[in-house]
Amino acid sequence: MATRKHFRKPSKDRKVARERIDILFSQADKAFPERKDLADRYVSLARKIAMKLKVRIRPELKRRFCRHCYKYLRPGVNLRVRTTGGHVTYYCLECKKFMRFVYSKKK
Ligand SMILES: [Zn+2]
Repeated sequence: MATRKHFRKPSKDRKVARERIDILFSQADKAFPERKDLADRYVSLARKIAMKLKVRIRPELKRRFCRHCYKYLRPGVNLRVRTTGGHVTYYCLECKKFMRFVYSKKK
């Protein structure tokens, strides 16, 4: 009977969401590049979970899909990586767009 309202999700749910996002990305990693369609699907599922439960996708995972077309990306397959000065430029070969990240830590 009760209509669902947008309450803040319990932190436990958000923890589960983060774990599921990690799992989805590792599944995408396994499926790629043989099953690009599946990998892309896992990315979109992960994004949906993140949006629904308002959890942040970890920065390292964010670099694994295109910000524009949301395709799962891998260097040498559908991603070109360039380092220019203080930035890393990711060139998505799927939609031909660039993403830029700040070059934070040096190993
Ligand atoms: Zn793209």
